[in-house]
Amino acid sequence: MKTLRGLCFLFLAIVRFLISRDENSQYFHDDESDRENAFTQPAPYKIISNITAAKPKESILLAPVGAQSDVRFEELASTLREMFNAPCKIIETVEMPRKAYNPERMQYHSTIIINSLKDAYGHNGHKVLGITEYDLYVPEFTFVFGQADLNGSAAVISLRRLRQEFYGNENDDILFQKRVEKEAAHELGHTWNVRHCKNKKCVMSFSSAIIGTDKKDLNFCKKCSKIFERNIQN
Ligand SMILES: [Zn+2]
Ligand SMILES: [Zn+2]
Repeated sequence: MKTLRGLCFLFLAIVRFLISRDENSQYFHDDESDRENAFTQPAPYKIISNITAAKPKESILLAPVGAQSDVRFEELASTLREMFNAPCKIIETVEMPRKAYNPERMQYHSTIIINSLKDAYGHNGHKVLGITEYDLYVPEFTFVFGQADLNGSAAVISLRRLRQEFYGNENDDILFQKRVEKEAAHELGHTWNVRHCKNKKCVMSFSSAIIGTDKKDLNFCKKCSKIFERNIQN
């Protein structure tokens, strides 16, 4: 009996370890081979929202962080409104928290930015998404495309590695805007506790390189859409 109980504990410990390992790596996007994997073929740019009648209680705030940028914010807001069936507005540019900068890495710590956004705006039923030109990192990785507070109220994305110029290619405004919208939708999805999806076409699929971002659609798959609808009821 004792042995059986011991085996059960061991089994549970292994399962827990596997789950926590998966969760720890889930919400950051990192890939050193990104430069080699630069965009080749775009996915068709279609907005087919799977969200129907469900309406979240929260509204979305878009906050440029550190500097204004050439993102078409109005277009982005309108896409997010449609996708999440939630009000979305653009707020004033917020300052980059000074302590987010790491001079050795010449990058900004995304968790510090998220915490600062959360303190300033992540209340009164808001989900705030910071959008910054600057390159982001978390200590575990060389860089991140974005980070979200899972089931929380703040997220941030970096525009730097969404630009074709970063990969040595010519500027492409349309492609850049598509990438921004997908990354924004992905991180906001996490704030409603939608986790990574195995469906490579789903906006919640994890992109370890920019090619993954280009392959996915700007849309939840049916499964994630159901998860979103369930989560907004809570
Ligand atoms: Zn993610
Ligand atoms: Zn999905």
